[in-house]
Amino acid sequence: MSNNRGTLYIVATPIGNLEDISLRAIRVLKQVHHIAAEDTRHSRRLLLQHGIDTPMFALHEHNERQAVKGVLKLLQEEKDVALISDAGTPLISDPGFPLVRACREAGIRVSPVPGPSALMAALSVSGLPLDSFCFRGFLPRTQAARRDCLAKLLTANHTQAYYESSHRILHALRDLHEVLGAEREICVARELTKQYEDIMQGTTSEVLAMLEKDEMRRRGEFVIVIAGAAPRETDLPPAEAMRVLDVLLGELPLKQAASLAARITGEKKNRLYQLALKRR
Ligand code: SAM
Repeated sequence: MSNNRGTLYIVATPIGNLEDISLRAIRVLKQVHHIAAEDTRHSRRLLLQHGIDTPMFALHEHNERQAVKGVLKLLQEEKDVALISDAGTPLISDPGFPLVRACREAGIRVSPVPGPSALMAALSVSGLPLDSFCFRGFLPRTQAARRDCLAKLLTANHTQAYYESSHRILHALRDLHEVLGAEREICVARELTKQYEDIMQGTTSEVLAMLEKDEMRRRGEFVIVIAGAAPRETDLPPAEAMRVLDVLLGELPLKQAASLAARITGEKKNRLYQLALKRR
């Protein structure tokens, strides 16, 4: 990293509850020379609440390319800048990528101040396996593209997560039900950390019924988490390996059982671990 340059801090901010901001985030936002915010009016409320009066300017998807030049200039003049978005972690379906990329190319230090993200919050309460998951941002807006996107991951074994808006949540759930079938386990996390936080869990048909029945539950912000497909019979290890795994699962913690079963049977450890998660 070069010296005599400022640092760009990528600062996570609350996704609803204003108390969800770290002590370090508050300190950094106070200490930097400038804050680049997705929407300065929106962020002012948070900054006021924490007594932060650092000068702010806008960096959003419509002025991003132009704003990057200004931020690089500040950093090259040894000014520190913090990037924040309206909520959660910048760059996660939010502005910031061109800026971080430009800093990387210019050898400017970029430092994270981690904190809330709707994605991580939803995953953490979903009750679905998280040893491996895939996040794909917002589901496509049109039905054809959405169904196509879901169909491509129909047989994937890992958990999947998507952001969704109130305008499309019902359509998205109907498509999930159509493409993945009635029995796939899902979690729809609504308004996390806010007053009407609502975590809907069940099969696609159960959660769809919850949303169809109650219009209030279709309001707000959503993360959809979908369980991976169950392994097909042809994907399963031989019966002997499954028997060994089941015996060990009865006696040992999951990770240890999968690891030992792999050593005994010669099967792949990760494959047995995935099966063990599902069997538990
Ligand atoms: N960068 C943000 C983050 O790290 O959480 C996400 C920004 S993205 C533009 C906004 C989307 O995140 C919303 O449309 C919704 O899908 C999801 N989201 C944000 N806040 C949420 C909340 N409190 N509860 C559930 N989903 C939320």
